Formats: sequence, structure tokens, C-alpha cells
Amino acid sequence: SAAKPANFLRSIIERELQEGVYAQRQWGGAPGDAASHQAGSADPARVRLRFPPEPNGYLHIGHAKSICLNFGLARDFGGVCHLRFDDTNPEKEEQEYVDAIIEMVKWLGWDWNFQGTEHLYWASGYFDFMYRAAEHLIERGLAYVDEQTPEQMRANRGDFTTPGTDSPFRHRSADENLARFRAMRAGEFPDGAMVLRAKIDMASPNINLRDPALYRIKHAHHHATGDTWCIYPMYTYAHPIEDALENITHSICTLEFEDQRPFYDWLLARLTEGGLLNAPAPKQHEFGRLNLTYVITSKRKLKALVDEGHVQGWDDPRMPTLAGLRRRGYTPAAIRKMAEDTGASKSNIWLDYSVLEGALRADLEGQAARAMAVIDPVPLTLTNWAELYGAEHREPCGAPAHPQLPELGQRSFSLGPEVWIDRDDFAEVPPKGFFRLFPGNKVRLKYGMVVECTGCEKDADGRVTRVLATVVPDTKSGTPGADAVKVKGTITWVGQHDGIAAELRLFDRLFSQAQPDAGDADFRDALNPASKTVVTGYVEPSLATAAPDTRFQFERHGYFVTDRKDHQAGAPVFNRVTTLKDSWGK
Ligand code: ATP
Ligand code: MG
Ligand code: MG
Repeated sequence: SAAKPANFLRSIIERELQEGVYAQRQWGGAPGDAASHQAGSADPARVRLRFPPEPNGYLHIGHAKSICLNFGLARDFGGVCHLRFDDTNPEKEEQEYVDAIIEMVKWLGWDWNFQGTEHLYWASGYFDFMYRAAEHLIERGLAYVDEQTPEQMRANRGDFTTPGTDSPFRHRSADENLARFRAMRAGEFPDGAMVLRAKIDMASPNINLRDPALYRIKHAHHHATGDTWCIYPMYTYAHPIEDALENITHSICTLEFEDQRPFYDWLLARLTEGGLLNAPAPKQHEFGRLNLTYVITSKRKLKALVDEGHVQGWDDPRMPTLAGLRRRGYTPAAIRKMAEDTGASKSNIWLDYSVLEGALRADLEGQAARAMAVIDPVPLTLTNWAELYGAEHREPCGAPAHPQLPELGQRSFSLGPEVWIDRDDFAEVPPKGFFRLFPGNKVRLKYGMVVECTGCEKDADGRVTRVLATVVPDTKSGTPGADAVKVKGTITWVGQHDGIAAELRLFDRLFSQAQPDAGDADFRDALNPASKTVVTGYVEPSLATAAPDTRFQFERHGYFVTDRKDHQAGAPVFNRVTTLKDSWGK
């Protein structure tokens, strides 16, 4: 098999497994329960990773990179990857997002079951432990309640060139701080009145170590804990604890968290030496974000596209959300392949969208059933049909559903005197190199017969309303002598007597700029006004019974999928997944 793409995380895990870094680890019990955490037996999972989304939006293609990386490493090293909802922000999180995240991680082909245990967790499940750990830090003089205003705090933090200034509240006694913190928890103060901060170093060159906030007051209802809490842990405080309680070995995140790592290590070292957590603590490793050209991967901006009506929902087939990509007809295998092929590195990468689309085409080529369809229909009349065969005659035609997969069976349809062809398969005056229908030229109707074009009919505006041709006898595909008449062109078609009218949704890129949100640019200005076109076309009768979410290759036209929401027998709706050739060229 091909060499694996560069992935520095893989090398780190291999080395640590060889050195037995995690072999002596004792753990067990339920995450969040520090007592049982202290006591367990050696974990059978050699490595533990996690994917920790915040349920404040739908997953996008960037998240898929992180999902495949974490779950993929767990699989490759005989470990487990947890799905953990980082629900420490009570106001922005919704059940709809939770459900969608679970659905899409599963859809991508991953699960969080290890040896019969479901490893799905909630940050809010650890609120009790986090609170206890905060009191522990206060008791040891490692945290204090700061009552400066947010403006004072910001001013006193300093910047890259200026050290910070100690808060006047920094030197209170542990007892005073404890009393203050308990009063915070009891709901005695309004939002923003004070915060709990770690006491580290206001002069640290790393601004993240200048006494970062651990808890803030927020009188907000939480989807899981209700009104139990009016103080909530900050992400930077919560996240290392979540990792430690779940016995995560490698906490993988994107590069922007690099400056947070010293605090991650500081916090877990303090709690480990204090006996609240086991050693060795998890380690954070940062890798480069994946960016794709022509899309945006920011939940906030994607939410704006939905809320402002630029697209029809999070699962609009033009959206780079996983729900959108699925509805568009992307396969989990194609997305996993893209993620695998991009490895993991220490720098952010920009991937050409055509790479993802290429992975999709490669996957669909080998599995999608073929069908004929006409996207921009114009009638073709075979004027000598009645004379040759009788007006009522229908010539049975057939083809394999897939040229390499006989198990997919045969499709059948028939040829009659009136068919639909694509408008651009006819030219009254052929451009150079045009081998399809023009007066005097012969082409094969694919799987059918050779016809010779005799002319066309036009309306008052000169628009072609009908193409005329005659059948060349004894040229039926698959019959002896069918090839005696040589033609340079073969065109696809659908019989008017058995074709099915279908709504075809044709998509183009949502943005016309390769980096729609680069710099200060407003991504709205880069929206492509022609990103969606809806037409009525015709498809061959074998598609009458297609189930929703079924992919096809419409011969010569591209891949299409029956829309998972709107398609029904009797009212078919197809989304164009992609054309057959790369159209993203630079
Ligand atoms: P957004 O900025 O879109 O809100 P996020 O990173 O804040 O995304 P989370 O729900 O916190 O969203 O993300 C869960 C995980 O997915 C994090 O570990 C994050 O680093 C990772 N992730 C998000 N976007 C990308 C990306 N483009 N490439 C790789 N990993 C990503
Ligand atoms: Mg986040
Ligand atoms: Mg973010």
C-alpha cells in the first residue's frame, strides 16, 4: 500500500508507546469521579484522544479534518477517541447542534465505543469537579477573586512589550478568596462583577500566563445543568481538566492554542501534585488548521450565511458543513480520504477545493450507477420512424447499471420517434471539431441507433424548438453489423414516452473568491450570485424508483444525488454533486 502522508503526531505516539509513557497509568471508573479515577486498573486502550466540539453550530469540513485525525489515530493505535461536548458556554449551545454533531460524526464512519463502553461525554458533567479543583487552587494560594472591572483587567494585563500590573485584589488571603468565591457561586453578585483568576505571573512574556480567568459569573440557564450554576468555568480552565478526567493521552488541537499550552501544563501539574489527578497528565499537541479554497470554515460566519438567508439552512448543498456536503452527495469515504491524504503538520494549510472533489469523483466512479439524463432539453424527432417500424413501435434498449459492476444489474429503456436531447448537442452551423448533431451529420443515440440530422425548427426569435433526424436502419447497438456505419459522435438522450421529468438543482461554488474571508474582506461580498440554478430535465425510467440519497452518474453530465429531503417517487429532485471533470482550475 502507498506510503502514509507525513503526520508528526503518528511519530510522537509511536515513540511514546515504545517508551511505555502511558503503560503504567492507573485509571478506571467514570470520568469526572476523581475518587474512582485514582483507583482503577491499567487501561486497555493504549491511547485516548478526543474530539471536543462546542455545540454552537454545525460541523464543517475543517472539523472533519480534526475528527478523522483523532478517531483515525485512535483506530490505528488500538485506542479510543471520545466524543466530548464542550458545553461550558450556556448561552450559545442548542440541542439541535448536539444532535447534528452526533449524526455527522457517525455518518463520517466513526464511533466512540470501546470494548462495549460508549465514550460520549459532556464538559458540564465535570462542573462539580472543576469547582472543587478551583477551591483547591484557592486554598493553596494559586487562585484569587478579582473585582477589577473588565476594563481595568484589560489595561492591567499589559501587552507584548509591557509587563502586566498586579490587581489590588491579588494579595487577599486564601480564606477571604474562598469566602468570596463561595458567594459568587451562591449567586450574590451580578454578571461581570468579578472573576476567579489563577495566580501565576503578571510579568510573564506569555500573556496567557498573566493570571488567566478561571471562572466567570453568568446567570444563565444551562441545557444540562439547568440553574444549578451561576458561575461557569472558562474554556482554558475547563479543557485541560476535561482531558485529564477522561484519561486523554494526546490532546490534539489547532495551532492557535499553542500559547495556551503552558497554562494547560501549569494547571494539570498543580492538580496532580495536589493529588486531585493522576500522572502522567495529558499532553497538548497542536497541528495546522485545514483551510479549503472557495469555502469558509468558521461557525460564526456559516451561521451568518444561514441567518441572513444567503443559503437555505445549514444543510444547503452549497454549504461546507458536513450536513451540506452529505446533502450535496459527498461520500464519507471521500472526506476521510482527503483528511488522510493531508496528514498533520505544524503549519496551517490551504487545500485546493479540487482535491476534495477529486477524492469524491474517484470514489463515485467505482460505485455510482449510470443513467442517461437530459439537462437542457430540446425535442428530437425521428421522421422516418413510423415508416420503418410503425408509429407505435418502441425499440427496447439496455445497458449495464455500471460498466465494471455486473452485480448492479441492467437498466432498460426504449427508443421511440420522439426523444429529448441536450440543446448543446445540436448546432445548426457546427463549430470546428463539433461531431454531434448538425444537418448532414450522423451520430449514435447511445445504446440505440445511428441517426442522421436533417435540420431543425425554430421559433420567431430563432431559438431551436425541435431537431429533426432520420434513423439509419440496422444500426441498433449490440446487433450484428451495427458498427458498419461509422460515426464520430455519440450523444445521450431520454425517450419522451418513458422519460421522467425531474427537478435538477445545479450548483456552482458558493463564493467566487478563493479566500472569501481573507484579511478584512467581508465574505458576503464574495458570494457567487449564480451558485444555484434549478431546471427541469428528463431522466431515464430506471430512476423512477430511486430512493432519496442515492447517487448516480448521469452519463456525460456528472454525478447527481436524489435530494435526501425533497426527492420523492413521482416528484424526483436531483442535486448535481459535481461535474465529471475538474472545473476549479486556477
Ligand atoms: P469555529 O472557529 O468554526 O467555531 P472551533 O474550532 O471553535 O471552530 P470547535 O467546535 O471548538 O469549533 O472545534 C472542535 C475541534 O475542531 C477543535 O479541536 C478545533 O481545533 C477543530 N477544528 C475546527 N476547525 C478546524 C479546521 N479548519 N482544521 C482542523 N481542525 C479544526
Ligand atoms: Mg472552539
Ligand atoms: Mg472558533
